[in-house]
Amino acid sequence: MYSQAAGMTVYLVGAGPGDPGLLTVRGAELLARADVVVHDRLAEASLLELAPATAERIDVGKRPGLPVAQQYVNELLVEKARAGLEVVRLKGGDPFVFGRGGEEALALLDAGVAFEVVPGVTSAVAVPAYAGVPLTHRGLSTSFTVVTGHGRRGEGDVEDGGPGWEALAAAGGTIVVLMGVSQRGEYAARLQAGGLPGTTPVVCVHWGTRPQQHTVRTTLAELARVDLEPPATIVIGQVAGLDLSWFERRPLFGRRVVVARPREQAPALVRALRVRGAEALEVPVIAIAEPHDGGAALRAAVGELSTYDWVVFTSANAVERLVALVPDARSFGAARIAAIGTGTAAALTGARLVPDLVPERFVAESLLEAFPRPAAPGARVLLPRAAVARDVLPDGLRAAGYEVDVVEAYRTERGQPPPAALAAAGAADAIAFTSSSTVTGYLEVAGREAVPPVVACIGPVTAATAREHGLEVSAVADPHTVEGLVDALERVFKGP
Ligand code: SAH
Repeated sequence: MYSQAAGMTVYLVGAGPGDPGLLTVRGAELLARADVVVHDRLAEASLLELAPATAERIDVGKRPGLPVAQQYVNELLVEKARAGLEVVRLKGGDPFVFGRGGEEALALLDAGVAFEVVPGVTSAVAVPAYAGVPLTHRGLSTSFTVVTGHGRRGEGDVEDGGPGWEALAAAGGTIVVLMGVSQRGEYAARLQAGGLPGTTPVVCVHWGTRPQQHTVRTTLAELARVDLEPPATIVIGQVAGLDLSWFERRPLFGRRVVVARPREQAPALVRALRVRGAEALEVPVIAIAEPHDGGAALRAAVGELSTYDWVVFTSANAVERLVALVPDARSFGAARIAAIGTGTAAALTGARLVPDLVPERFVAESLLEAFPRPAAPGARVLLPRAAVARDVLPDGLRAAGYEVDVVEAYRTERGQPPPAALAAAGAADAIAFTSSSTVTGYLEVAGREAVPPVVACIGPVTAATAREHGLEVSAVADPHTVEGLVDALERVFKGP
């Protein structure tokens, strides 16, 4: 038995091959409560965002010419754990498949530091799947072998202990090569020397499962001659002749779309874009901040919620801010609830408040049309919303005979996107605007030069703001939802 030194656990977590959806539930859970995340250079940025904002993120990725010694990583893990911190060691794919996870676990064991291994979806399996190549297939292959193509004579890997390429050729079945770009000519020759025909189909997948995925189909004899950059997963065998391509056929595959949104609201749009194959480049132009009075007015309004006839929400932010202050599920009393926009309505139902009124179109004018006349003189409406917003709604409700309390629920501030994000945004294919304030915010933060050629807006008000600022709007969503917005983009790229 090893005696356990004081300190926390180090979690060796598999991050999967790139698509953030391929992280395990356990991995997400651990990231969400990590104190320290030790990651490699290529760790998917959206996975790092799953860790608390306060968590320390340490990049130990190897860079060309700047190798990070394994010894250093091992010591770092031990040191952080001994400091009493929850450490997530995030590793690409599966930590125990060519990830040196075994070496890190050994070092932790030696140091008496507790560890847990959270397997990941290895690129050896996931990347062929995303390229539409089944590793086994009835009649074609009943086994697969995962090997490193980076053999150094006398230094482990396939050269000593492993079966060797000639034996692998004789064994039959599918061969999956990781780290196999630079020495592909050598092992292709050895596989042929071992008896594998030069006509054997080969699939090379660069950046598999990511929006940049690129698949090259060739044969064993030609493998050395195809253009190929690392990282790539190379599949050799009869199954590589199958083409069940699906990922690269998604309607927005390969398109880079800028999402100009408050951080807090981006996930739905980013997810919708990814599902259709687009790469979402998030540029946070607006940050949601405390109201000017620190929330005093909102707290006061919540204290007398049941005295209102209606509470009208125009944003998910307002819902979240208000609901967070509600002390008792019955606080609403008989007050009815209206919501503009599906995001707002979804935030309400998420809080188990079913809106009584959601106008068909998601603009203030549509709510005013659908809003009932006051039941009695002096009927009151609470309108919790951003510090700066249009006056159409309160003016219209007052004109209809309501007493309206406009309460500042949150404030929007200018975001500070990193320069690299702005540079990438400028080179993107399209931008998706979800509100007038994201249009003005983006132009302030990023400038005209960073507006890609295709501009899509969630609705007519947003589009009008974009046009006022001299942008040419290529598409306006209808319905004015995240899905509608992604549909609109798809139509633009599909062409007439
Ligand atoms: N532990 C990792 C493998 C680490 S070795 C895993 O289980 O996936 C690194 C190699 O994995 C790369 O050289 C490449 O061959 C492969 N690889 C990792 N991510 C990849 C990706 N997104 N697309 C293609 N190959 C990938």
